[in-house]
Amino acid sequence: MPAYRISFTALDSRLIDVDMRFASRSGEMILNLPAWIPGSYMIRDFAKNIVSLHVEGESHTPRLTKLDKQSWRLEGGSGEVRIAYQVYANDLSVRSAHADNTHAYFNGTSLFLRLEGGEQEAHDVVIDDAGTLPGWHVATTMPAIEVDERGFGHYRAPGYESLIDYPVEIAALDGCDFEVRGIPHRLVIHGRHQCDFERLAPDLEKICSVHAALFGELPLDQYLFMVTALGDGYGGLEHRDSTSLMCSRRELPRKGEQKVTKEYRRFLGLCSHEYFHLWNVKRIRPAVLKKAKLDQEAHTSLLWAFEGITSYSDDLALVRSGVIPPRDYLEQLAEIDTRVMRGKGRFRQSVAESSFDAWTRFYKQDENAPNAIVSYYAKGALIAFGLDVTLRRISSDSLSLDDLMRKLWQEYGKPDIGVPEEGVEKAAEELAGTSLADFFDACVHGTAELPLDDWFARMGIGYRLRPAKSLSDQGGVPDDPQQPPAGPVPVLGARTRDNSGAAELVVLYEEGAAQRAGLAAGDRIIAVDGLQVDGDSVHAAIAALAPGREARVHAFRRDELMEFRLTAELAPADTCDLWLLDAADSADEVLARRAAWLGTDD
Ligand code: ZN
Repeated sequence: MPAYRISFTALDSRLIDVDMRFASRSGEMILNLPAWIPGSYMIRDFAKNIVSLHVEGESHTPRLTKLDKQSWRLEGGSGEVRIAYQVYANDLSVRSAHADNTHAYFNGTSLFLRLEGGEQEAHDVVIDDAGTLPGWHVATTMPAIEVDERGFGHYRAPGYESLIDYPVEIAALDGCDFEVRGIPHRLVIHGRHQCDFERLAPDLEKICSVHAALFGELPLDQYLFMVTALGDGYGGLEHRDSTSLMCSRRELPRKGEQKVTKEYRRFLGLCSHEYFHLWNVKRIRPAVLKKAKLDQEAHTSLLWAFEGITSYSDDLALVRSGVIPPRDYLEQLAEIDTRVMRGKGRFRQSVAESSFDAWTRFYKQDENAPNAIVSYYAKGALIAFGLDVTLRRISSDSLSLDDLMRKLWQEYGKPDIGVPEEGVEKAAEELAGTSLADFFDACVHGTAELPLDDWFARMGIGYRLRPAKSLSDQGGVPDDPQQPPAGPVPVLGARTRDNSGAAELVVLYEEGAAQRAGLAAGDRIIAVDGLQVDGDSVHAAIAALAPGREARVHAFRRDELMEFRLTAELAPADTCDLWLLDAADSADEVLARRAAWLGTDD
């Protein structure tokens, strides 16, 4: 069986030493490292971080030939073969590996060479600090064979696929423990923080319990949340029985605080998202991803379901668990809709297409992305909501999206069968007992505007689109929905950043004032009507113009000063408000549906 010894003698150089041993086979042996990590759909070529690699044989040293960017061939060895290599670990993300004097973190996709043909064998891992890292502990869900009280020692994964699904964090960690359905859950944090674990543990326990109740079972022996707290950072990656998360330390609850702040809500939403993935994508898996060899892209049109339904279910569990009130949930949902409404790319690309092309488009966004692509996360979450509403409508409220998830779990997840490309739609139609082709053709495969006003009305939710009040306005819940929203002011139609005192255009919205004036991404605006502006003040200068008036805009394109004529255009209605409709104005069946949806008693 392949065995690896990981050691940390060169942390200051950000190097992790790996010593791999296996019994030689006759003929050629192929070793390689994955090009991507499941859950993050981009080619990352992890093998580029192998900075040295040596081979030795017990009696004959095999001949080593590099075949391509990530594969090696060994020939002519005998007895035990030993491969010693060093991996440069300087990517502080949830996807790769990072080592410095504060911690060592790695995913197996960055560290463990795969011996082709040996994937089904058990893989042994020894994590060894040789006593050099006092106070550090190992956090991982990889099954331990024999480890010391700090977790250093001998682990064993049942095969290569599981080996690379156990990220490992090694640091001076602290954390908290709780149980869901009697199964131990642990959260550990690396990085400076002042987290109030006495709040976090019960909040997480409630949220995880909502997901477990939805699926009716929790297919785990243990679960681990591995958190890196930073000044600024956000991200998560799902695994079968753990997740790696990155957050800003502001998002962790602090002692003495009582409220669920917007920042804390964001962190809980991230935990909830990755936990829902333990079913939806890690066990209920697209067939295409299930058979992927990780050496090249694997295209599926289903990410809208795996990421969209998860993005819908994550915040919904926060309100259903009682951790946040319905108002806060609506604020989250309104912000998702605003994100969708601000990109005209939704008229160019369907969420099925966005899923398929994730590798080169969603994961490689440029300045034109809002005009060219749609997010299968954000629009996918709205479609999940629409599917939830539709299943309730068709079944006179006897079915919901929860039933679809249970069906997918029973038919694909639990028996470990890959979901075919048409599998989600077919399961929904079987459940509904009728064709849902109109829904899926329009919402998933088409680019028509979603009928959100109808969907929200059926759930007892008020919905409107209005112009943004400020640059930071992402939509939300209005204080008084009876009051009409403030009238629009002229806007630039572009996102800017300050660049040496000029307003550099980062993104131009299609048909916005800046684009109509002939400005382009990368241009640096220095004056409006002859008066100097920077990255912030340019927006106030445009807002002060009378609608329809033409302004002179001076901007540098590369090093050439140019003048443009910009006609002041009013802000579009692209910002979403949602609110609970008054009980007095709503039918009883709508109120009952809303209460069932949000898990509230009203
Ligand atoms: Zn996700």
